[in-house]
Amino acid sequence: MPKPVIFTIDDDSSVLNSIERDLRAHYGQDYRILPIDSGKAALDYLKKLGQRNETVALFLVDQRMPEMSGVEFLEQAIKAYPQAKRVLLTAYADTQAAIDSINEVGLDYYLMKPWHPPQERLYPILDELLEDWKIHVRLPFEGIRVAGTLWSLPSHQVKDFLTRHQIPYQWLDIEKDSNARQLVEGISSEMTKLPVVFFPDGKSLLQPELKELADKVGLQTRAALPFYDIVVIGSGPAGLAAAVYAGSEGYHCLVIERAAPGGQAGSSPKIENYLGFPTGISGDDLTRRAVSQAKRFGVEILSAQEAQKVFVKDTYRLVQLSDGTEISCHALLIATGASFHMLTMPGAAELTGAGIYYGAAYTEAMNYKDQDVSVVGGANSAAQGALYLSQFANKVRVLIRGHQPTASKYLVDALEQNQKIELMRDTDLLEVRGKNTLEQVIVKNTSTDEIQTFDAAAMFVFIGVRPQSQLVADLVKRSDKSYIFTGLDLMVDKKPPQGWTLERDPFLLETSVPGIFAAGDVRFGTNHRVASAVGEGAIAFALMKEYLKAL
Ligand SMILES: Cc1cc2nc3c(=O)[nH]c(=O)nc-3n(C[C@H](O)[C@H](O)[C@H](O)COP(=O)(O)OP(=O)(O)OC[C@H]3O[C@@H](n4cnc5c(N)ncnc54)[C@H](O)[C@@H]3O)c2cc1C
Repeated sequence: MPKPVIFTIDDDSSVLNSIERDLRAHYGQDYRILPIDSGKAALDYLKKLGQRNETVALFLVDQRMPEMSGVEFLEQAIKAYPQAKRVLLTAYADTQAAIDSINEVGLDYYLMKPWHPPQERLYPILDELLEDWKIHVRLPFEGIRVAGTLWSLPSHQVKDFLTRHQIPYQWLDIEKDSNARQLVEGISSEMTKLPVVFFPDGKSLLQPELKELADKVGLQTRAALPFYDIVVIGSGPAGLAAAVYAGSEGYHCLVIERAAPGGQAGSSPKIENYLGFPTGISGDDLTRRAVSQAKRFGVEILSAQEAQKVFVKDTYRLVQLSDGTEISCHALLIATGASFHMLTMPGAAELTGAGIYYGAAYTEAMNYKDQDVSVVGGANSAAQGALYLSQFANKVRVLIRGHQPTASKYLVDALEQNQKIELMRDTDLLEVRGKNTLEQVIVKNTSTDEIQTFDAAAMFVFIGVRPQSQLVADLVKRSDKSYIFTGLDLMVDKKPPQGWTLERDPFLLETSVPGIFAAGDVRFGTNHRVASAVGEGAIAFALMKEYLKAL
């Protein structure tokens, strides 16, 4: 944490030097003494202090300055630093101005020039003020600050990325916080690029790409080696489980993740049906444990790197990443999981990230405190999302297409017992409306044909999981719904699929290309559960090991 600042402003350089010397002698160890020769220059400097997240303890300002009087300066400065103590340096003739400013700018003291000897006429006064400041000040947040608006999709993506990496940050909504707005204006006056991310080292990034952000916060985005025994694409439960086993048995293993580790499970507020956690475990806790376990065994995990293409060259399986680099390996695991369907009804595309979120209840819930929100879907993920949101929101409407939620019984019971949750059954979503952010939702009850419009500050969508298998669409055999076929599901009349090059049949979790395996939600026959994904990841590793032995 940088030292708090004592700002002293005077246009007369000899006075400024003298006060600076006295302040430095008594306060230099605990405070940064900043002498400046005009009010305007000082206001400019204040913006820089804000960007660096420094705080001001005291303004000691000369009243009589040509461009801007001390009181005029204080009027502006206290908007940014309302907790700072304010002292005017005055000549006898300015006493009335100083008295008037006690109310105008909440002046704490006016000091007559000259102030010598400082031991009697300066330090006792400032000591008392600074002691009081120390008791009451709320020191600024020391970590990363993200300043943006609730209606900006990139702001949401940055917050989600940091949340999913469990990197603490402070959210500053520039529409509600004028200091935050000033901070952003200091960096980007037109404010066309949001969010602005401020770092503790004083640097900032405007609407950063996730990879840029990942680099800045010290996440690994580049592989250390050109070749690995095993490469895993996707760091959900399936990918992480395979990586932990691969690492623990001494294989060189790389995991490639386009967003943040944890996958869908990482966005779950509470997983209650995973073996060994009778009171449940949050997705981020499970992810944190799995990531540290994998890293402890020497596994490399890349963040914000999308695998864009997979191809085969002799015994090598190659992966091309979004930054153009290529990684090769002998065994490859596709553990790219599934994602939610995007809504297509009128208004939905424009409001994505501006009130409409896919999953993400965890990241955004606090922003909708005491407001009405909606959840779309009736499966486990939607039920968990609704229950989590109900801890903050005023009311949560859960829109279900069918008559009964398909979530597990313990979750349906919890939904029905929750006073803040309204289950809207047989409900079709027709339209979403809002100017900058979501405001209204229009639905139809399919059993009564009744149309209903209600307010919603946010809507969290948990419907229609789609396997993320596009990456290998031209390479491996997939079902009509894009799930990857493995093992027995590939066999036609008890024979391996066309193009299969080995004597043996495909292993249980092997795809139609030898050495390329699939596990978890992307695989045909999956049951969309954390435990299944973890189990499949572990089995996939055992099969990759068999495959590597035979190379
Ligand atoms: C909100 C929510 C709550 C849930 N709650 C439960 C629960 O309580 N109990 C339960 O058993 N199950 C629950 N589930 C389901 C469970 O989370 C999934 O079944 C499980 O996460 C699937 O794991 P996976 O590893 O196969 O895939 P995913 O978890 O989907 O992970 C796949 C990963 O691959 C990455 N990826 C995709 N494509 C690429 C690419 N081209 N390049 C690089 N990376 C890529 C994705 O970013 C993602 O991180 C929940 C799901 C959600 C969304």
